[in-house]
Amino acid sequence: MAQLIDSFGRRVEYLRLSVTDRCDFRCFYCIPKGFKGFFESKNCLTRDEFVRLVRLFSELGVDKVRLTGGEPLVRKDIIEMVRSLSEIPGINDLSMSTNASRLEEHAASLKRAGVSRINVSLDSLDSGRFREITQGDLERVISGLKAARQAGIHPIKINMVVMRDRNLDEVGDMVDFCIENRYTLRFIETMPVGAAGQDARNSYVSLEEVRCILEQRFEFEPSKMRGAGPAKYLRVKGKRLKIGFITPMSQHFCESCNRVRLSAEGVLYLCLGQQDQLELRPLLRQEASDEQIKNAILEAISRKPERHDFNNRPQQVVRVMSMTGG
Ligand code: SAM
Ligand code: SF4
Repeated sequence: MAQLIDSFGRRVEYLRLSVTDRCDFRCFYCIPKGFKGFFESKNCLTRDEFVRLVRLFSELGVDKVRLTGGEPLVRKDIIEMVRSLSEIPGINDLSMSTNASRLEEHAASLKRAGVSRINVSLDSLDSGRFREITQGDLERVISGLKAARQAGIHPIKINMVVMRDRNLDEVGDMVDFCIENRYTLRFIETMPVGAAGQDARNSYVSLEEVRCILEQRFEFEPSKMRGAGPAKYLRVKGKRLKIGFITPMSQHFCESCNRVRLSAEGVLYLCLGQQDQLELRPLLRQEASDEQIKNAILEAISRKPERHDFNNRPQQVVRVMSMTGG
């Protein structure tokens, strides 16, 4: 069976689907203020088109799929989509990244349909600050988190983008919150993706600084996490809490990159920080055969760039983050 191995010997086994570029939040580092450039619905992949592509990727060795966006839970057919994806032979791990604003109503059906684990974005525990960063409602996120726990979704990982003058002073409180609620915590550095990400560069904090701040209050020991991806994990001594540090800027992890991203318009992005891509929608709509699509994917993977260039060319990636799903 043909496998997705790029020209640097990296095996691609992880596909992230941005199932919609729409979102009910407006995180200032993700979607630019007043942004109007959302995709037209006729150009977005249908559920059947997504499912077909995931089946072809799975035949090429992909076994891990994450649904992201935009906000995946604003897509009306998301539960049916999860159910269909979970039935594809070879997909062993189906997860979701969500802002949790609609998780309270969807958690139980998501779990039943096949989502085993979720990542929830949570940048502040103060509702005023949370609203300033996201334009969203913190109460709904907290209710969504509780519903996910009740539904038996595990693990629940909290993703916190750490920003100077916004939430750097909350990193210790977030550790306490995650200890108390038995969540896994991951800190993320801001990336210059799209105009919003580029504007957010002033807020950038290296996670080395975050670690120094936390070490004044907590004692850490090294830890491992199943399916950890690029995060380096530490455990708070004497507690179950694991903390991941995702450092695309200060310490990139491109040499072990195993993922590609598919946008809601059917564009396959080969690297989050580069423009290299393959347009799959025309192939789907011109009735290309499975073999033709798989060959196009294989050819694209051979062009996967060696690494991102966020530090040297921060203005390069103009698409907004919600198109590719982070
Ligand atoms: N709406 C969902 C959510 O917020 O979790 C899924 C999509 S969101 C684009 C996925 C992740 O990307 C979130 O954890 C978010 O914080 C992160 N993200 C968005 N823009 C970012 C940026 N400029 N730098 C770093 N992370 C970013
Ligand atoms: Fe929406 Fe997620 Fe982007 Fe925030 S980070 S605007 S929740 S897609």
